Amino acid sequence: MVLPNFKENLEKYAQLIVEVGVNVQKSHTVIVQISVDQAPLARLITQKAYEKGADEVIVKWTDDFVQREFLSFASEDRLTTIPQYKIDESNDWIEKGASRISVVSSDPGSLAGVDSQRVATYQKASGKAMHAMRQATQANKVSWTVVAAAGPKWAEKVFSNLPQEDAQDLLWDQIFKTTRIYADDPIKAWREHDQTLQEKADKLNHSQFDALHYQAPGTDLTIGLPKNHLWEGAGSLNARGEKFMANMPTEEVFTAPDNRRIDGVVSSTKPLSYAGSIISGMKFTFKDGKVVDFSAEEGEDVLAKLLDTDEGSRRLGEVALVPDPSPISQSGIIFFNTLFDENASNHLALGSAYAFNIQGGTKMTEEELSEAGLNRSHSHVDFMVGSEKMAIDGISKDGTTTPIFRNGDWA
Ligand code: ZN
Ligand code: ZN
Repeated sequence: MVLPNFKENLEKYAQLIVEVGVNVQKSHTVIVQISVDQAPLARLITQKAYEKGADEVIVKWTDDFVQREFLSFASEDRLTTIPQYKIDESNDWIEKGASRISVVSSDPGSLAGVDSQRVATYQKASGKAMHAMRQATQANKVSWTVVAAAGPKWAEKVFSNLPQEDAQDLLWDQIFKTTRIYADDPIKAWREHDQTLQEKADKLNHSQFDALHYQAPGTDLTIGLPKNHLWEGAGSLNARGEKFMANMPTEEVFTAPDNRRIDGVVSSTKPLSYAGSIISGMKFTFKDGKVVDFSAEEGEDVLAKLLDTDEGSRRLGEVALVPDPSPISQSGIIFFNTLFDENASNHLALGSAYAFNIQGGTKMTEEELSEAGLNRSHSHVDFMVGSEKMAIDGISKDGTTTPIFRNGDWA
């Protein structure tokens, strides 16, 4: 099968990424991180960004194979020492207020079998080196967006019963569907979608619950919320006051938990692709905010490494609500890609919280954020906990409970 009007739709997609994703304006610098097998999309994004008046579009090519070889065979020293010029480069981007477009298309199992200790070592080193860049994005100082492209190996994993070419077409079809490319006017459709999610967030902001209580098979978890926490929908504002869309697709409203007040057990409901490996059937026990016990049916060693990344990687940094009837969930497809799977399900994240999820947070110091209960870890990994059986209550300061979710959907 060959997807009809693929070229036109790819062009619409590039336009959407440039216009709604990072909202390119005159004199912007744009960084595009994209795989070598997605060159046609990279070129379209570059073209559209210059059309919008960008000063410079910088494409940073990635490749699963080259990365796998590096992580397998590079000397220990090169894994642990990130050269200064790379740090300088990312500081230069921050100074220019550069927008970041990350196009994900990787094979979710691209690093399967590579020594997980080496992978973890490198992730830790690069996480530390790129700390300033991550802070700038996590505080929404600059515009950033994460979008997908149908990588051939990824498509094969999602549609494992089909020949590669058909699988890739089907995955593109899903990407276009969930990013509203088939709408008469995709850009208008996104503005409306943004509005709908914002209304949900506004309602929760008004309630200012002290905690949330999750119940589902294998889950009975209470998550404290910080004072003056802010729920966010899809759209965000950067430091220049320009709108952008951090994820496309997106179906979530999310906030930061108080990482000292999380107690109970929680079970994952979808597999997680992390650091090139699959982790599934996860179970965590929390006490006073910290994971004190955990297990996984698959990838438990990778999970153990993730939890030991740093002080904060055993604590939560994000609480996100996604109704089970969301279009991505209803597709019934497991994408093995967090951008999609997290938007099919209520999810939580181990690791850092977003500074903008608390009033005045983007102007707070690291210490102030930490005092407010926001996790300052160097990692941030979402995992999926939602299902059609999930109930969530909001608990107010005076102890009264209000249903938020019933049977996996807004109450
Ligand atoms: Zn999320
Ligand atoms: Zn997240």
